[in-house]
Amino acid sequence: MTEIDHHRDIAYVETGFGVRSEFTVTSVPEGIEVAGACPACGGRTIMRFERGMPGGTKGFFSRRTESTFPKDATVFCDCGHMHADRPEFAIDNGCGAFWEVELP
Ligand SMILES: [Zn+2]
Ligand SMILES: [Zn+2]
Repeated sequence: MTEIDHHRDIAYVETGFGVRSEFTVTSVPEGIEVAGACPACGGRTIMRFERGMPGGTKGFFSRRTESTFPKDATVFCDCGHMHADRPEFAIDNGCGAFWEVELP
């Protein structure tokens, strides 16, 4: 890996960042893959949303019951770094930041 990680070791806090347009949204056979850097900690986050699985892989669509794919999706930071003050019950594996991306 030659990619430089500009990760910032901030404390975990749930923060909404609204709609982010700088994320790469790619269609993959399983569904849609959203990749980019977390607006809070800068950690690289890749989130995959699977079609036909309203529950998602981590329950992000747990409140959605539509059979069609949503027009936008909430992405949680999944940088994989340990952030201070991260609660035990946190479903994400990042700093607590979340944002919206528009799906094609
Ligand atoms: Zn992070
Ligand atoms: Zn983050």
